Amino acid sequence: MQQRKPLVSGAAMRFDGQVAVFDLTKENSPCYACLFPEDAQVEDVQCSVMGVFAPLTGVVGALQAMEAIKLLAQIGTSLNGRLLLLDAKNGDWRSVKVAKDPGCKVCSR
Ligand SMILES: [Zn+2]
Repeated sequence: MQQRKPLVSGAAMRFDGQVAVFDLTKENSPCYACLFPEDAQVEDVQCSVMGVFAPLTGVVGALQAMEAIKLLAQIGTSLNGRLLLLDAKNGDWRSVKVAKDPGCKVCSR
């Protein structure tokens, strides 16, 4: 957070994948904690228990690489401020906007 370096985040579990970019070099960008607060009560589910559709990890990793290269090369429009969701089981993609949390304990001090 202090370095304000962009974070390209990716996750895959079962048939669900997600990718997001948190580019703190941009004004009013949400941070990772705006979306996933550190003190949130989340069910601790692990890939080793829940499993993951193996090809999905490749898709998520390739998307992360694509977003990282776009940030480095300063081309296109990054996923900053959006969460890209992939339902691999049904082949459905969608993205949702992620707003900065004015009460975020990490970036809104
Ligand atoms: Zn935040």
